[in-house]
Amino acid sequence: MTPQKYDAIIKYDAIIIGAGAGGGVVAGLLAEVGKRVLLLERGRRLSFEDIGRDHLRNQRLPQYGFNVGPDPDGNPRVALTPEGKAIVVNPIEGGYQANAACVGSGTRVYGAQAWRFLPDDFRMASKYGVPPGSSLADWPITYDDLAPDYERAEWEMGVSGDEATAGRKRPRHRPYPMPPLPLNTQGRTLQSGARALGWGTQRVPLLINSVPYNNRDACAHCQHCVGFACPTDAKNGTQNTLIPRALATGNCTLETEAMAERIDTDGAGRVVGVTYWTKAGERVTATSEVVVASGGAVETARLLLNSKSPQHPHGLGNAHDQVGRSLQGHYYAGAVGWMPAPIWDGIGPGATTATVDFNHDNEGIVGGGMLADDFITLPIIFQKWRVPADVPRWGLAHKEWMRHHYTRMLLIMGPVHEIPSPDARVSVDPDVKDKWGIPVARLSGTTHPETLRTYDFMRARGEEWVRACGAEDARSNPSGLVLSGGQHQAGTCRMGHDPQTSVTDLWGRVHGHDNLYVADGSLHVTNGGFNPVLTILALAYRVGGHLVQAW
Ligand SMILES: Cc1cc2nc3c(=O)[nH]c(=O)nc-3n(C[C@H](O)[C@H](O)[C@H](O)COP(=O)(O)OP(=O)(O)OC[C@H]3O[C@@H](n4cnc5c(N)ncnc54)[C@H](O)[C@@H]3O)c2cc1C
Repeated sequence: MTPQKYDAIIKYDAIIIGAGAGGGVVAGLLAEVGKRVLLLERGRRLSFEDIGRDHLRNQRLPQYGFNVGPDPDGNPRVALTPEGKAIVVNPIEGGYQANAACVGSGTRVYGAQAWRFLPDDFRMASKYGVPPGSSLADWPITYDDLAPDYERAEWEMGVSGDEATAGRKRPRHRPYPMPPLPLNTQGRTLQSGARALGWGTQRVPLLINSVPYNNRDACAHCQHCVGFACPTDAKNGTQNTLIPRALATGNCTLETEAMAERIDTDGAGRVVGVTYWTKAGERVTATSEVVVASGGAVETARLLLNSKSPQHPHGLGNAHDQVGRSLQGHYYAGAVGWMPAPIWDGIGPGATTATVDFNHDNEGIVGGGMLADDFITLPIIFQKWRVPADVPRWGLAHKEWMRHHYTRMLLIMGPVHEIPSPDARVSVDPDVKDKWGIPVARLSGTTHPETLRTYDFMRARGEEWVRACGAEDARSNPSGLVLSGGQHQAGTCRMGHDPQTSVTDLWGRVHGHDNLYVADGSLHVTNGGFNPVLTILALAYRVGGHLVQAW
């Protein structure tokens, strides 16, 4: 690409980088109060047909690429092996830590589990102490501070859930706007197993319409939920809620296939706008009062680090070398149980029943996690991930094993608390550049070893649960120390009071800047023992609400 460089000076009130979960919410809130917003998204705006239902090309099994980005070519990252070897990785390769890249980002195709974190998730360091070598810390806000924003996300975006059980371990002040989706056979089986163990269960809250809501249809219970777009548009992401609301005001300009290269500052070091590449290959500088970085935990850190200037020689917000550190995601614990009779009934989306009994207060364990049944498994994923090593990979014996076991699998899984490490980090690679010529993210380190003890504790609970359901055999996988991130990436621009140990204040404003904000998973100090998106959305309501108030 040989771009024509020019500066088109357009004055916006706010430029938001990234039209995913966090950025979509802030765009909606600002546009609705009359602010002129430029929303930049490097991916495309995709229809249901664009995303398709290819079992080999989707966000769960990207054998031939993702269905919602990033595109396989021109978007490399560099992963550092434990031995210190730098390896260039492309989006569908191991170690890339991809989420998505399109309007809505992960929320376009996610499973939509909509968990609030627990009060103790916001005070992990106070509760457990700080394991040596970790960067475990308390949030600068409490669950109660965020509760109104959780509620707003649940109502404005649309969450279905069971109010009778949802209040376990966390106060709630308003019921869910929709009842839960129907229970299926695996959910009923898990409920009876939990009863036998004396464990509590609750229905999995989902950002999916169980009844018509927000002028869109209810879920059709199909078998292609996680990793795919919804045929009835019942799955609620920012692409069909806050972003259309922003566009309907006429105040928001959404530019797709537009890649932000850097956040610009003036001679005094104050943020003045963004330089980005347009779909047509032009390099444009746009100016604004405020810039909000919402590129997701890896790309937001990369962007801040790439925005060096004489006043900010280490990147924006990085005077104390905090940007990019404590990258987290989720280790997934759980177990597979093989049931004596079929329990598969094909009623989607599938994730119905959870226990939160082990989120905290497990003797000798830092944190814990949630366990729930999984979304309906695609047959090809079952074939790739679940066939034991001693079963032939093809032929009659293989087919018979598949026929017998697919309908008898009881699969439970769930995210465990990761104990953050300062060495698990995003930096910028000195050599490798993407297709726009921008230095790419370099990923290095691992999560803290405490995470493995929590993981082992949780997979043992998983095995216990499937056995109590009547499984003839129960299996779970040991895990080793790895760098996490992936679809649940978080933590690289953590909130905090102290600029020496955090990147933003408790409103998502980058320390040392009055007009630069972060609104995405980067803000998470710790990533909870739950899927993170409802917390990311709630934080974006908090950041956007603060901007509206403080403007
Ligand atoms: C298959 C799948 C299933 C999931 N299931 C669940 C679930 O059940 N529950 C749950 O809680 N979470 C789930 N997630 C994760 C959830 O989608 C993410 O946690 C969430 O989207 C992260 O929000 P974010 O705002 O941090 O970043 P994102 O939503 O990823 O938004 C970042 C956006 O910024 C864009 N961008 C980045 N850099 C730039 C740049 N320089 N210029 C322009 N644009 C840029 C990206 O393309 C992207 O669109 C799932 C994700 C996937 C993919």
